Amino acid sequence: MTTRSDTTTALNRLLAEIEHRNPAQPEFHQAAHEVLETLAPVIAARPEYAEPGLVERLVEPERQVIFRVPWQDDQGRVHVNRGFRVEFNSALGPYKGGLRFHSSVNLGVIKFLGFEQIFKNALTGLGIGGGKGGSDFDPHGRSDAEVMRFCQSFMTELYRHIGEHTDVPAGDIGVGGREIGYLFGQYRRITNRWEAGVLTGKGQGWGGSLIRPEATGYGNVLFAAAMMRERGEDLEGQTAVVSGSGNVAIYTIEKLAALGANAVTCSDSSGYVVDEKGIDLDLLKQIKEVERGRVDAYAERRGASARFVPGGRVWDVPADIALPSATQNELNEADAETLIRNGVKAVSEGANMPATPEAVHLLQKAGVAFGPGKAANAGGVAVSALEMAQNHARTSWTAARVEEELTHIMNDIHTTCHETAERYEAPGDYVTGANIAGFERVADAMLAQGVI
Ligand code: GLU
Repeated sequence: MTTRSDTTTALNRLLAEIEHRNPAQPEFHQAAHEVLETLAPVIAARPEYAEPGLVERLVEPERQVIFRVPWQDDQGRVHVNRGFRVEFNSALGPYKGGLRFHSSVNLGVIKFLGFEQIFKNALTGLGIGGGKGGSDFDPHGRSDAEVMRFCQSFMTELYRHIGEHTDVPAGDIGVGGREIGYLFGQYRRITNRWEAGVLTGKGQGWGGSLIRPEATGYGNVLFAAAMMRERGEDLEGQTAVVSGSGNVAIYTIEKLAALGANAVTCSDSSGYVVDEKGIDLDLLKQIKEVERGRVDAYAERRGASARFVPGGRVWDVPADIALPSATQNELNEADAETLIRNGVKAVSEGANMPATPEAVHLLQKAGVAFGPGKAANAGGVAVSALEMAQNHARTSWTAARVEEELTHIMNDIHTTCHETAERYEAPGDYVTGANIAGFERVADAMLAQGVI
């Protein structure tokens, strides 16, 4: 008989081993802690999960590829970046997860993202495994031609590892429609195959799904709305703080407005904008999506209602709900204290792991509804899986149909996390609910498929 304390001891031993075997990967350690620390009740309750090697296999990627990405800038200078693809777990379907192009990318970052992706993708219920990739290439300030050459070089190695039944990358930070276009073009050229399902986030008219660009942000707002409903409230009239100004933040702001809430902030690495009248989306889209500019330009052009706070943090602005939509560890303990002091009711993660463990702990202790990214931001990858389904069927669905499916999936994920948390005596704890529910699905498939 395995007791909960035996299980906790075994998981702690495994966590120490993970740190030892994967040195200098703090983000991966953090993600592993966050998941494994919540699994003791389910492993103790279901003896099959205590099978030797199951959790050990889960924390070891099935395959990790690291490659050189040489490319020439517009002046003919050669640059050498590093490319990654971590194929973490394919028990539920082909590896699925985005590519991140950002100067902070390294193996540990990609492994944390890939590990999260396993559980997130399991929660969607759509038959997708977990993977992630990217490069330490920084597209900011690069011309279209430079980005194209980089993407072509990146795909010249990546193509041999991916495929519609093998591994299906998409976007993440620094990888949007433009990059997916260049990557898809090079894949098609090298393989001589029109294989639409090899990448998601494609453009309209060549295999992309309607609502894919909106899906992560829309999905996160739907998840926040479901958490608020659970507390007997809705989003109507609520003030929201949103961080970031990329794809996730933009469509979070759009959906908040559609549901009657008012998003008053957005940010980038230079600081944040607060706009008392609510963020003007047309202006923000023009600056970020068309001009690829910075948020201070928003404040300059918006007029009296908006101001730019250089170097500041959006969490200082009082709000009912907070939707961190920029990057990992952007909301720390001090930020959580500020949010709580200002009366925040719900925090829902649009980015991957934006709240530090200390922040999550504080928010939960204060009774704030907290939606972890692997549940709350699963809408993006869910619509990616719907894009794959449309590609397989050689069809495309209407925006209304995709949005209806997305709404259904997000409500389902919310219910699953909520009910799982109750089942394991952690009512209202969406972190535990998401981790256990995701784990059960992956672990059951891994056990059925044998030791591989
Ligand atoms: N990068 C997104 C995520 O973190 C989307 C991945 C995908 O669509 O495959 O889930």
